[in-house]
Amino acid sequence: MNKPVMTSFYTQLVSNVLFRLHERLKGHSTYAMLARLEQSQWLTAEQIANEQQRRLQAFISEISHKSPYYQQLLKTRGLTASDINTVADLQKLPFLTKQLITDNQQALCSGPQQQLQRYNTGGSSGVPLIFYMGKQRVSHDVAAKLRATRWWDVDIGDPEVVLWGSPIELGKQDRIKKIRDSLFRSYLLPAFEFTPAHIEAYLQQLQQLKPKMLFGYPSVIHQLALAAEARQLSLAQLGIKVVFVTSEMLFEHQRQVIERVFACPVANGYGARDAGFIAHQCPAGSLHISAEDIIVEIIGDNDQVLPVGESGEIVITHLQTQAFPFVRYRTGDMGRLSSEPCQCGRGLPVLAQVSGRTTDFMLTTAGDKLHALSLIYVLRDLEEIRQFKIIQHSLTDVEVQLVAVAPLSSSLAEQIISQFKQRLGADCNITLKQLDTIASLRNGKHRYVESKMDY
Ligand SMILES: [Zn+2]
Repeated sequence: MNKPVMTSFYTQLVSNVLFRLHERLKGHSTYAMLARLEQSQWLTAEQIANEQQRRLQAFISEISHKSPYYQQLLKTRGLTASDINTVADLQKLPFLTKQLITDNQQALCSGPQQQLQRYNTGGSSGVPLIFYMGKQRVSHDVAAKLRATRWWDVDIGDPEVVLWGSPIELGKQDRIKKIRDSLFRSYLLPAFEFTPAHIEAYLQQLQQLKPKMLFGYPSVIHQLALAAEARQLSLAQLGIKVVFVTSEMLFEHQRQVIERVFACPVANGYGARDAGFIAHQCPAGSLHISAEDIIVEIIGDNDQVLPVGESGEIVITHLQTQAFPFVRYRTGDMGRLSSEPCQCGRGLPVLAQVSGRTTDFMLTTAGDKLHALSLIYVLRDLEEIRQFKIIQHSLTDVEVQLVAVAPLSSSLAEQIISQFKQRLGADCNITLKQLDTIASLRNGKHRYVESKMDY
């Protein structure tokens, strides 16, 4: 039997039948959204801006009725939904910060909280954040990702390998997700487990799974590519069409190694679990914003909106977040918008540059590289901890700075130290320092991991 035909038959089956069924059963409208997005990407920049404005008005109108937080906020400011008609009008509303989300979780919800999906993220700031998503937003974020992978000739049902640090999906839905993922042939290799033994196993799995796409952190995929090269393992024949990287800065040297080893292009993406899938790179090289539903403002040092071309903090309004609104959400990331249209012909606006995101590695006492996320996960789910920063001074000396809601109990301190030792080595000295505040970087962003080691 001819294998490529089988593969494409399965892809079509998944794409046409199973995925639609799955989405309908979950009450998602991903397919309708995808169809809309595939059309609108070819509109002119002006038409897309008009569509965005229309959706902004509908969004503000809806949350002004349903979200108690925004109902109250508009009232206090003497505004009604009809005062927010354009992107410029958004400046009448305040920024939304992680702290405001934490303090107003109930009031932000437009309906019963139990009908929403709960998410928990350390984000790039090191401040743990709990927020909620409605079905509308989940559908949108999936559709936006699918539109972008189709730019690279990868469709739903094509096997993909995801190198991701997130164990958050583990839990009661674990089994369901496993079934769904094997059905849609999306395989997760945990990026926070990255010892030499894991790398060996991951390389073997890649050869067996023959994915059409790799998706994950550039630092992790770069490490994997280097490991393959060191073993003189040829992965060029696997047939990978694209490596999609996100959540971190993509460095040029990483791009070169990844493209060489997997013999395919690297596509950059900008987004985060909290702010959504904001921008994806097209084959012509531009990071296109999913502007139909996502408004990007660039904010200067004095909180003023900067013109196109100037660098500042990226602030996001996500128009599919009716259930738990993200309006002028401060991402802490730095970037600038481009005024140049893309050669691919899509009218979607372009993010010229995103900087200021790093997710680092740390070294264990045995000298192995460890993805810093595995340490971050120890801290970010603890309710007692508001903020943290992990500093590696040497192989055997790691400092953990903490801002906690109350003095740490000795049992919690022991638990943290023990989990750090498990990951870094039993002979690593872990020092906990409880502080009142942790200083920010100049751009207001917190750096949650700092390594003083050279590697
Ligand atoms: Zn383009």
